Parts: sequence; C-alpha cells; structure tokens
Amino acid sequence: MSEEKFDAIIVGGGLAGCSAAIVLARAGLEVLVIERGDYCGAKNMTGGRLYGHSLEKIIPGFAEEAPVERTVKKEKVSLMSADGSLDIGYGSAKLSAAPECASYTVLHAKFDQWLAGKAEEAGAEIVTGFLVDSLITDEDGRVAGINAAGEEMYADVVILADGVNSLLAQQIGMKKELEPEQVAVGAKETIRLGEDIINQRFGLAPGEGMAWLSAGDPTAGGFGGGFLYTNKDTVSIGVVATLGDIGHSEISVPQMLERFKAHPSIAPYLEGGEAIEYSGHLVPEEGLGMVPELYRDGVLVTGDAAGFCVNLGFTVRGMDFAIESGRLAAETVLKAHELGDFSAQVLSGYAKALDDSFVMRDLKSFKGFPTVLSQRAVFESLPELCDQIAGKVFRVDGQPSQNIILYMIGLVAERTSAAELVNLVTTVLEAF
Ligand SMILES: Cc1cc2nc3c(=O)[nH]c(=O)nc-3n(C[C@H](O)[C@H](O)[C@H](O)COP(=O)(O)OP(=O)(O)OC[C@H]3O[C@@H](n4cnc5c(N)ncnc54)[C@H](O)[C@@H]3O)c2cc1C
Repeated sequence: MSEEKFDAIIVGGGLAGCSAAIVLARAGLEVLVIERGDYCGAKNMTGGRLYGHSLEKIIPGFAEEAPVERTVKKEKVSLMSADGSLDIGYGSAKLSAAPECASYTVLHAKFDQWLAGKAEEAGAEIVTGFLVDSLITDEDGRVAGINAAGEEMYADVVILADGVNSLLAQQIGMKKELEPEQVAVGAKETIRLGEDIINQRFGLAPGEGMAWLSAGDPTAGGFGGGFLYTNKDTVSIGVVATLGDIGHSEISVPQMLERFKAHPSIAPYLEGGEAIEYSGHLVPEEGLGMVPELYRDGVLVTGDAAGFCVNLGFTVRGMDFAIESGRLAAETVLKAHELGDFSAQVLSGYAKALDDSFVMRDLKSFKGFPTVLSQRAVFESLPELCDQIAGKVFRVDGQPSQNIILYMIGLVAERTSAAELVNLVTTVLEAF
C-alpha cells in the first residue's frame, strides 16, 4: 500500500464503494479503495437482481459490456403453503423497454470485479485483502484517515461503503449496533443447471431472466421469504429470515433453504442441478428507521452501511440504492474538493442530494413496509388462507359447489380474529 495522502479513501469495494470511486477518479482525484476480500465481490452477497437505472447514470449502456447474467423479463410472486402455491406472474417487454427501467440478474463475484475494473480504468487504486481496522480522527473529532494492517493512511475524506454491519461507523458513534429486528439473515445457493434447461424449465428465451419471490412456507411462517433468480446457466436460490424472528419456527436458516428447495413448486425446477456455491449475509430490513448519521467532518456513509435497502415483498432493492448513494457521496466530495472544505457543513450536501433522490424518497414512501412485513398473518394465515381458497376454486370433485364468497368469509372468520384482521388492514393502509 502506498503511504501518500489521498484525496479520498473508500472503505469497501462493493457497488457503493466502486461507484463512488469511478466518479471521483474520473474527475482526477487520487482515490484509494480498500477491500478486505481477496477481490471485490468475494465477501459480499446479493440475491440478486440489479435494477439498472442508477448505474446507467454512471456508465450509460453498462449492460452491453458488464457481466450481467440475464435481463429480467418475467416476474413471479408466490404465497406458499406446505404443499401449495398461489402465484402471480407478470411478463412484459415493458420491464426492459428502456435501459433505465431494465433489470438484470447478477452474481457479485463477477459483477463487482468488473465494476472495480472500471474504477481502476478511471484511475482509482484498489487494494484488496486488507481490513480497515479503525478510522483516524484528529483532536477535533474530524476523520482524517484509516488504520489498516498496522499502517496509517490519510485522506481529505473517507467514504464508508463497508456494508450492513459497518463497524467503522459504529466505532465513531455515527451508527448504533444493529438490532435483531433491523436485519435479516440471507442464505443462498447457486445451482448450475445449464443454459438450455433454464430456458426450457422457466419458459425463457435466451438471455431472458426470471425473478421469483415467495412468502409463507419457505420460512415456516417466520418473517422473511424465498427468492429464485435465473442466471445464465445457474439459478440463485435463497431465503431471508428476520434475525429477531428466527426463533419463531424450530428450523434454522440453512434448514429453511433446504425446505424451500424441496417445496413441490420449486423442486422440479432444480432437479439434476449441481450446487456450486453457498453463501450467507445480513440484509438491512428496517428501512428509514435504521438510517444512521450520514456525514460528519471528513466522512460519509453510503450503501448498506447507511441501511439503504427496501424490501417490499415483491421487489428487493439494495444494489441500486448502493450505487446511487455512492455516486451522490462522490459528487458531494467533488464539491468539497473544489472548495477545499471537507467540513460537515459542506458534506451535508450529500444528505440534501439523497433527500432529492429516489433513495430517501423511497425510504420515506415505504417507511411503513417493515411493519407490514412483521405481521404474522402475512406469513402464516395468509398463505394458508390463499391455499384453501384456491383449492376450493380450482378443485372439482363432483360435490355440489358452494358459494365461494360465503366460503371465503367463513374461512377468514374461522382462521383470523376480527382484531387480527383490523390490525392487518390498518397496517397495510398506513404503509401506503
Ligand atoms: C440474501 C440477499 C439478497 C439480496 N437481494 C437483492 C436483490 O435481489 N436486489 C438488490 O438490489 N439488492 C439485494 N440485496 C441487497 C444488496 O445486495 C445490497 O444492498 C448491496 O449489495 C449493498 O452494497 P454495498 O456496496 O453497500 O455493500 P456490500 O456489497 O456489502 O459491500 C461492502 C464491502 O465492504 C467490505 N468491507 C466491510 N468492512 C470492511 C473493512 N473494515 N475493511 C475493508 N473492507 C470492508 C466487504 O468485504 C464488502 O465487499 C440482497 C442482499 C442479501 C444479503
């Protein structure tokens, strides 16, 4: 590692860190990215579906050269009971009609390395295999650099892009220790099936991808859900389970993944596949409520480190938030560089830019969603109810048919209390 003073040091070579590095290096600043993994994309994890709009702003047309797996053309959302699945599917050219609304399946290990390469091309220095142990602060509390592997390195500004459990932001009191209710644990397997088999089984044309999210049985009624994304010749399949709710069922997160893979609606898609990778990671879940202090003298917090992630059950977004916040942090640093002033007052421009962007607007719009997704009824009663109703609607057994509306009312009354129902409806209405 070089010992000179940098214009900016970025901790973490994920999407937030690499995006910030590209913007800063392109403007001619001396930028150092420090990543603890052996390469960028080695230690982090995603589901993963990347909504391309925020990276389009940094690298227009990026998907033509980036290692994206497939362009998502089909959506599927399922409520799963033990042996049934009520699915909503959607497929349309609208999903990818323009680059800014297209989304892609990606694998971090390939994609982050590519983005890191773009940062290097722009002139950033990327050092991998080093853990940043702590931040250096001066006598006024201003962040002035980092300590890594026994070396001190200095910079005008440090951008923290070190992921969901940002120990560095915690060390200087910008962020509180994570609470179990604020994060989910994700476990994912990458299973090789072959390109043709994926196309056939999922009904996809070459290059087309599917995003499939499920709730209910995958987590045995616990808060969370399952996901399946089709890559080029593999699928990414996994579960996320809210850490504070893991005790609800008796099974562990790896067991939930096995349960999900074995579900009758999922298993036929995976038949004959070879598991080639297994990973686990935390996901920020609380949204607006877990956003920490975003800037102080000489320091900015971006991406998952800032809790920028929104899970609505039918979409999961963290990567586009990471990229946007990395870019906005870098643009704020460019202004500070021009002024020669890296005080909190100037760096507060980052918070203003976030407020004006989809990052804070979406976090605010969906601030009630974590509450909806912590209603037991959504994960337990609702999938079972849907299973019963769909079973009634679609099953013909020669018995006289029953009025389906009366059947539904009777079922709802039998399975949920009025209080539970009112609570659920109020929570959903409040979330919007
Ligand atoms: C199971 C799961 C499914 C998900 N699905 C989706 C999805 O489908 N779509 C979506 O948009 N988002 C999804 N997300 C969220 C998304 O992956 C993240 O929001 C996004 O990757 C965050 O990027 P980041 O750069 O902020 O952090 P990370 O990608 O976590 O990068 C942080 C980097 O910092 C490094 N680091 C940490 N500490 C140090 C240190 N002290 N010194 C040096 N390096 C350090 C880490 O090694 C890591 O490489 C999912 C997340 C999970 C876990």
